[in-house]
Amino acid sequence: MPQSYERVFNFSAGPGVLPVEVMEQARDDMLNWQGSGMGVMEMSHRGKWFRGIAERAESDLRELMSIPAGYRILFLQGGASQQFSLVPMNLMRGGETATYAVTGAWGKKAVSAAKMVADVSTAFDGAETKYDRTPDLASLDRPTNESYFHLTLNETIQGVDYLSDPEIEGTVVCDMSSNIISRKMDVSKYDLIYAGAQKNCGPAGVTIVILKDELLERMNTDLPPMFSYREQVESGYMHNTPPCWAIYICGLVYRHWLDHGGIEAVEKRNETKASVLYSAIDGSDGFYRGHAVKQSRSRMNVPFVLTDADLTDGFLAEAADHGFVEMKGHRSVGGCRASIYNAFPPEGVDALTAFMADFRQRHG
Ligand code: PMP
Repeated sequence: MPQSYERVFNFSAGPGVLPVEVMEQARDDMLNWQGSGMGVMEMSHRGKWFRGIAERAESDLRELMSIPAGYRILFLQGGASQQFSLVPMNLMRGGETATYAVTGAWGKKAVSAAKMVADVSTAFDGAETKYDRTPDLASLDRPTNESYFHLTLNETIQGVDYLSDPEIEGTVVCDMSSNIISRKMDVSKYDLIYAGAQKNCGPAGVTIVILKDELLERMNTDLPPMFSYREQVESGYMHNTPPCWAIYICGLVYRHWLDHGGIEAVEKRNETKASVLYSAIDGSDGFYRGHAVKQSRSRMNVPFVLTDADLTDGFLAEAADHGFVEMKGHRSVGGCRASIYNAFPPEGVDALTAFMADFRQRHG
């Protein structure tokens, strides 16, 4: 087996691989967190210990992402999917239209959820080219009565990423579920960011929301409290019991990356891993083919096919025998997908590309 604890190389798209050191720390703290005599799962969410844990997670995320003053951090529940609805519920005002750029399956889902409560204009839909690229945002036709503009920074299924922050006017809302904390980002380019934690940040069950204070002033007030960002801000996301354990693990993950060189080091590590994998695909004389066009290639999710599709099942089976697991492509795209989130080890990418070259030699 490739790693300690007989761990496999886990290419899961989410929930995804987490730093081993974080899980070791959580294991050591499980029954008695820092001498408190109890585990984090057993603590009152309003007690001083958990408040400290949550405040630390917030401030470490702020440092890791260089989140400027004037932005709030919330740890909510319901997943990124719930934000698909909360965003329009909170932000839409009468007579306004929300604009969406759809670069893949998740953007599409965001649009259908928004349409239940909002007037939606789709300024870009990449369906025609099978969601293999991001648009030039500046050239999009947008309504004059726009409430907000929504984009999915990295599409997890199609492996399509903008690779830069949006340089556009208006209120920008961004689904960062699959590439948050994967590279340096300029948070000031966004008004509201949301991300399910279960890829780069921690376990499933908590959703990170980063929102600009100014946005709160224009938010609807007549919402059920659990659906209201204003209420979540006012109650310090403690309107009800927050996902304490998941927040605690996210905090350990943020601290882990801060202790390992911060976001610059994370970005470098991710760039290197992605470039090794894409080079193996590009250098295979068409044996393997990536999905996204080069300028939109995700560094987190790398979907690819074997040109001879009949070889796919054999490839995946042999890969699993070598300890490369969760590599089957999403059912909507087929083929294979290697998700190489922050915690995925570089040596796993090296091992995979060696295996890919060997497989090609035997079957090419
Ligand atoms: N957006 C993106 C980009 C995703 O990858 C996912 C989950 N894979 C979601 C939204 C939905 O997230 P959740 O399961 O937390 O609702």
